[in-house]
Amino acid sequence: MRFVVITKPMKKTLPDVIPSATWVSALLRWFDRHRREMPWRNRPTPYNVWISEIMLQQTQVATVIPYFRRFIRRFPDVKTLAAAKPDAVLKLWEGLGYYSRARNLHETARRVIRDFGGRIPSAPDALKALPGIGDYTAGAILSIAFHQPAPAVDGNVLRVFSRFWGLRAELRSPVLKKTVFQRLSPIIHRANPSHFNQAMMELGALVCRPRNPLCPECPLRETCFAFAHELTYLLPVREKSVRIPHYRVAVGIVRRNGRLLIAQRPYDAMLGGLWEFPGGRRQAGETLRETARREIREETGLTVRVGETLGTVRHAYSHFTVTIAAFLCEAGRGRARPVASLRVRWVFPGELRRYAWPSASRKIIALLQKRPA
Ligand code: SF4
Repeated sequence: MRFVVITKPMKKTLPDVIPSATWVSALLRWFDRHRREMPWRNRPTPYNVWISEIMLQQTQVATVIPYFRRFIRRFPDVKTLAAAKPDAVLKLWEGLGYYSRARNLHETARRVIRDFGGRIPSAPDALKALPGIGDYTAGAILSIAFHQPAPAVDGNVLRVFSRFWGLRAELRSPVLKKTVFQRLSPIIHRANPSHFNQAMMELGALVCRPRNPLCPECPLRETCFAFAHELTYLLPVREKSVRIPHYRVAVGIVRRNGRLLIAQRPYDAMLGGLWEFPGGRRQAGETLRETARREIREETGLTVRVGETLGTVRHAYSHFTVTIAAFLCEAGRGRARPVASLRVRWVFPGELRRYAWPSASRKIIALLQKRPA
């Protein structure tokens, strides 16, 4: 358990746990006036809430809305989603990131058909046993779609209550999550669970923001510990983040008879199921051209002649960043063979858009499309 000692003098004293009646009604009144329009809020069915909550993980509402609309148009219910091909689900997810969410959605839809007759379960344990549904998502589905008094505690809610109750445990520590969950449980039993959880999420997104919270506009300001003690800049407590590594990568746009070679990543790998140009990380002492030649041979069995540079793109993932050099390559003789569970395919440039690509590869495709034919 990690705590910091806040040595700043206290201006006034607030009770350890503030009686909830006043601030809960202030919060719900605020939500009633300020709630944003979101397509899943119009029809909060278990399916819609589940899809939206998975899409909203690590992703802003404005980004999610068009993805959600497209997804629901194509897969309006569990049955259509379960029957879809994995590539079709990934294609609709293209650009949203964290692709394991799409694979888990698909697998969960299949299990809901197989084990629950197509109805998303309303029992907490059954829900949490499904792929991709943890405590937070289960809490959101149970409260918003089934009106059960289940707290939904994510990073936003932890931030709000670290400040509101003056909790000094580190933001990502289990002890903070447990404390907030235990304090919220009796409160949510007395409130409208759906509105209460959505109000907390909305307050975290619009008012109690990570930086520069808008305290004068906040419905909780009268009873907020951090506001009363001018500690909003210190709470929540965060450990210093570690420096994330940077990698140099080389890929080849391998050509033969007007077609390009693309490879599919194994389903159990990062970005699993998405397509990319063959290549990989530079090893010590290699030039990037040597990296491209070696990686293409290792991944596809093909020997290539590495030609001119198409361009360089940068991309940031959650745990590392990459600079990718893309080279135009000519394939030598022989068949391209998939290695491990990779599939490889020769496609015409106009067919690239049919496949699902990670964002970094889409930047390379954009460079390719800018070139004269
Ligand atoms: S008063 Fe400020 S710090 Fe407290 S909950 Fe509201 S926005 Fe957050």
